[in-house]
Amino acid sequence: VSALIIPACSNTADNTSNGRKVKLIKNEDQVYVGFLIDTLKDARWYRDKKLFEKQVKDLGGEVKTLAANGLDDVQIDQAKLLIEEGVDILVVVPHNAEIAAKIVTMAHKSGVKVISYDRLIANANVDYYISFDNEKVGELQAKEILKHQPEGNFAYVGGAESDHNAILFRQGAMNVLKPLIDKGKVKLVYDQYTNEWDPETAKKNMQALLKKRGNKIDAVIAANDGTAGGVIEALDTAGLARKVPVSGQDAELPAIHRILKGTQTMTVYKPISKIATEAAKLAVHVAEGKKVTTDTTINNGKINVPTILLEPIAVTKRNIKDTVIQDKFYTKQEVYQ
Ligand code: BGC
Repeated sequence: VSALIIPACSNTADNTSNGRKVKLIKNEDQVYVGFLIDTLKDARWYRDKKLFEKQVKDLGGEVKTLAANGLDDVQIDQAKLLIEEGVDILVVVPHNAEIAAKIVTMAHKSGVKVISYDRLIANANVDYYISFDNEKVGELQAKEILKHQPEGNFAYVGGAESDHNAILFRQGAMNVLKPLIDKGKVKLVYDQYTNEWDPETAKKNMQALLKKRGNKIDAVIAANDGTAGGVIEALDTAGLARKVPVSGQDAELPAIHRILKGTQTMTVYKPISKIATEAAKLAVHVAEGKKVTTDTTINNGKINVPTILLEPIAVTKRNIKDTVIQDKFYTKQEVYQ
């Protein structure tokens, strides 16, 4: 980690020097964007980082990304650091929806606007939110699983409860399952979040569930590809891989391979280039003081946040070519290696 040297003249509290804002980049006329990412553990975030940075630079801006390794204190310190460096705007993938509200308060004190990226920051005056339709992600997962297993004992393996998206993914899945649960066709025998979205935890939880139920599980709705990977390892050990349909999300390459092998049923592809490009445009425009209008708003417990929502796409064996390959998310070689 390279040390940050704050010039002696800078006043880090209000980030001004003789009334002038301090911006620690070569050309202070450029828009300076700070990108805070919760973690780089799931492969998608590397892509978000790379594409977002490229787009900000293509638009003439400068950008610095910091990832917090899943730690709230670190994420708050990183926000402080970037504000002190004089960023014009912060784009944040919060680790914890509630705790990240502090970042917004801090940023606003220094006149820095905040865009919530992919995950919503709760109970704060967030300036903009850009994401995919997360409830729809859950709906796509449940619908596809039901095509393969219309009834029986279902397990819902959720994401991290501290991530607002995890709540929405579950909500979406339940929208679809509820009528069947009410009719007694589907029995929800497991319905839990997975701490930190950790694949190992998902695996252990599935092992315990299979043991408890003497392997009587008919379908698993896993919230993302990481947790799906853990679930499938547990199913495999019990001799149930390929027999029990499993959902996922993110179109991670290992998940695409599992879909081709038949151990995972589907994933949800979220075109990362779209969110990264749109977010970068939004960040630069807002930082330049341009007015940006959005189609919709989402309430985060405090205000209606102006929101841009993008469409998620279900991917199964049948449409891998027309989705992730066509979009150049992966090459043919990567998929069929
Ligand atoms: C994202 C998912 C991701 C998960 C774990 C969620 O907020 O929307 O794409 O799989 O976090 O990183």
